[in-house]
Amino acid sequence: MAYPKELSLPAFFPDATYGTVHSVPLHLLPNKLSGVLVTTLYLHILGLDKQPITSLIPWLRNKIVLSDSGGFQVFSLIHSKGQGQIDSDEARFKMDNTEIVLTPEFSQQIQHSIGSDIRITLDYPVWGDENKAKLRESVKITAEWAARAKMEFLKLLGISQKEFNRTKPKLEKHKLTLYRPILIAVVQGGNNKDLRRKSAQELKKIGFDGYGFGGWPLKDGKLNLEIIKTFIDSFDTSTLLYGLGLGTPDDIVKLYKLGIHIFDCVLPTRNARHGLLFVSPSQGEPRGKHYDVLHIKSQRYESDLSPIDETCNCPVCKHYTRAYVRLMLKNKNPVGYTLASLHNLWFYAGLIENLRQQ
Ligand SMILES: [Zn+2]
Repeated sequence: MAYPKELSLPAFFPDATYGTVHSVPLHLLPNKLSGVLVTTLYLHILGLDKQPITSLIPWLRNKIVLSDSGGFQVFSLIHSKGQGQIDSDEARFKMDNTEIVLTPEFSQQIQHSIGSDIRITLDYPVWGDENKAKLRESVKITAEWAARAKMEFLKLLGISQKEFNRTKPKLEKHKLTLYRPILIAVVQGGNNKDLRRKSAQELKKIGFDGYGFGGWPLKDGKLNLEIIKTFIDSFDTSTLLYGLGLGTPDDIVKLYKLGIHIFDCVLPTRNARHGLLFVSPSQGEPRGKHYDVLHIKSQRYESDLSPIDETCNCPVCKHYTRAYVRLMLKNKNPVGYTLASLHNLWFYAGLIENLRQQ
């Protein structure tokens, strides 16, 4: 790891769940995307956490690797599916037939072995509309776990609290400079504004390099802008903020303008695999302010020899037609997934590049 490292802002990280972005070899990712988000627990299960990920994938050496904490797996397996249990010390659950006892310390240890540049403290997410007692419990445990994660982080890096403060990342308008791996804590509190503020306050007291909006960001299928604003307003404008799992192109534009710097989301790749392509306004079916969509598998594109998006300069739009991408996806050919994902990732890269120019 050669520090200092620079990250252009805003930054969008595609999700590389099983050690790669689904269907896309990492070296084909658009250059404007500064790195990837790796999923700590999946890398652990696959045994990919025994050495720095840059040893396995030297291409990542010039990139920024963001690792998650495993908190989302706690949420999805324990809260949504009732598999496993959680107490104030740890979370226990089974993932892909592997028993996992996840502690804040263990999460940091895995992230350290992966050698990620941006690390996240283990949090305790719950549904936004849980009762107040449950939300309080989530805020309390999240703060306790964040404190434990920070202790472990300092230990693993071999630095003191004073050194931690001295080497904090430098945040400028369109650039973040990292002098060491950084640690981001996740704010919980569900849809309760007071508890969101309380969670932010408690984490600020411990002190981190940045803070993330955690938990479920949607209400009635739409972005819960009000609660995300409460999160943003809990910090001064010189604080690095991360919107975990966010969002659509419109969400990213909106939230960046409100003060969030870092985003990750499965949408560009997941939607691509389902044949839902993001295109510039007036290039497809109107969807949002900053984008249209193409349901590329629809019959109407069967003989369409135009590129996915006339205005896109990605390699897919340069070399292939809608009819061909459609055929590959209809036939479930892996190349179809790759082409569709690449185009969508290029669309996101173009979107954040536009924001960097503003
Ligand atoms: Zn394209």
